[in-house]
Amino acid sequence: MSGGGSAGGQALAFTSALSLSLAALLPLPVLGAETGRRPYAVVDLHTDLSYQANFRGRSFAEGVGQFRAADLARAGVVGVVLPLFVPRDASSSGPRLTDLERSYQRVFSALARTEPYRLPGCIPRGGGVRTWLAFEGAGPLANQPDELRNFAARGVRVAGLVHTRKNELATSSGDPSVAEGLSPAGRAFATAAMSLGMVLDVSHASERATRELTAMSRAASVPVIATHSNARALAEHPRNLRDAELRAIAETGGVVGVNFHSPILSRQRVATLADVVAHVRYLARVIGPEHVALGADFEGDSRPPAELADVGGYQRLAQALERDGMSSEDVARVMSRNALRVLCRSGTTD
Ligand SMILES: [Zn+2]
Repeated sequence: MSGGGSAGGQALAFTSALSLSLAALLPLPVLGAETGRRPYAVVDLHTDLSYQANFRGRSFAEGVGQFRAADLARAGVVGVVLPLFVPRDASSSGPRLTDLERSYQRVFSALARTEPYRLPGCIPRGGGVRTWLAFEGAGPLANQPDELRNFAARGVRVAGLVHTRKNELATSSGDPSVAEGLSPAGRAFATAAMSLGMVLDVSHASERATRELTAMSRAASVPVIATHSNARALAEHPRNLRDAELRAIAETGGVVGVNFHSPILSRQRVATLADVVAHVRYLARVIGPEHVALGADFEGDSRPPAELADVGGYQRLAQALERDGMSSEDVARVMSRNALRVLCRSGTTD
């Protein structure tokens, strides 16, 4: 547990007043002479490197090649949310607390030794890529408030209760026949997570659970987010959000991270860069450009469009959005500023 103890100390060391100036975040690494322009800063709300490193035997620095550490500065990446995902088959009884803890330990030590990553938190630390940890399925934390507090103190900032199947906390969009939303333990978890400064994530939650989590966030006057989901109006997939859900998220001040995974961009057809542009454009029209972000789902066994096959695609997307008529101000919001607004709102404890 020595890594965890050290992590807790680090996180707590940064709990002093957070005076984050978004403007200060925007000086960017120079892309290079080949384009003659700076890249947009990029913050991605969902990258599954921990899954690749913890369960697929890949290195944290390389993954499957979609989110290589060596490519991040050049791609404009300044921040990323890393879910501590544990597959359902991690043990015969499903994900356990020890699995989450092991994932955390490994990810933390990987961050500590892998440039350009910084340890979890919002405070800029001399450039590099800032990180925030997340749950993508938090079933093992049902009725474990002390453990939840422990993870919050060590940099877990985003709380997705459920993955592709119902768990102890909530029903999933992967279980469309299940009527109920949050369990009593799920409601207690969501309340505790918000009180600890975490942001609730409705990606993968069932429609009813999404509705309940959004209502709880609204009642608590904090943003709710969908880290990696798209518009249901453009792709009829249970993982995607209906207009009413999009508007409810935006009303809390939250954001929706556009996912690059082909099946939830375009269903049957192989998706292209134009499909991602179409989802961004649609979301910006329905809920405003200040509520659109990116959650590419890199390293999550995802199949992105050929033009967005790895982090090199972020700036390609930015240019395509500009060509589509989006102002550079709004492109900057989508690429990073909106995500930073919800991840680093003042008063948070990291
Ligand atoms: Zn996911």
